[in-house]
Amino acid sequence: MIKTNLQNIHQKITMTALRCGRDPKEITLLAVSKKKTVREIEQAVSVGQNFFAENYVQEGISKIKLLSDVKLVWHFIGSLQSNKSRLVAKYFDWCHTVNSLHLAHRLNFQRSGMPNPLNVLIQINISNEEQKSGILLKELPNLAQAISVLPCLILRGIMAMPILHHSNERQLVAYHKMAEVFQQLKDTYPSVDTLSLGTSSDIDSAIIVGSTMVRVGTAIFGTRG
Ligand SMILES: *Cc1c(COP(=O)(O)O)cnc(C)c1O
Repeated sequence: MIKTNLQNIHQKITMTALRCGRDPKEITLLAVSKKKTVREIEQAVSVGQNFFAENYVQEGISKIKLLSDVKLVWHFIGSLQSNKSRLVAKYFDWCHTVNSLHLAHRLNFQRSGMPNPLNVLIQINISNEEQKSGILLKELPNLAQAISVLPCLILRGIMAMPILHHSNERQLVAYHKMAEVFQQLKDTYPSVDTLSLGTSSDIDSAIIVGSTMVRVGTAIFGTRG
């Protein structure tokens, strides 16, 4: 099941990318394994999936520890309270949900002494009123600048949650805006190469606008109980 699902998603990514003239290799598939077992993750690993994403700090860390003899890359994609930042800095390779300078400073400090910097994405709130997490676009230049000089973080790009309950049209307008901002950020900071956009429900639109990283849970592992 998981194996077939992964094959289907890879195929879908490839088809959509080619259809809009993109190189499918530019797009990384993250398997969102929240609420899924180590056994299920191992099934995905057995067919070559190496990138996993978790939303809850403790749950993620227990899986990271149990799977520590496998070479996997772990992304934190949940909302992060500053009292848990130390654990994310210590165990994860990426954090997609940096939304304040305060959090960035903490992660930077807590990452020091580790061999590699923490890869970070700034979370953008593209639907403004409905979502609580993420910064407004107008706050991006200052936060990006501040993060770019922190030695233990590496600014890789931006992330957004899907806009739900709205027309495709409104979603596409917002996604195009994200793509435009991503391009500007890339032109300013050489370390920027990642637009984390797209989940099981909006993977096609995300790839069409230029997403380089899709975060897929349900379509790989099935619904979460
Ligand atoms: C759960 C989650 C996903 C995956 O959503 P699916 O609809 O299961 O593919 C992606 N991104 C974030 C931030 C999530 O919390």
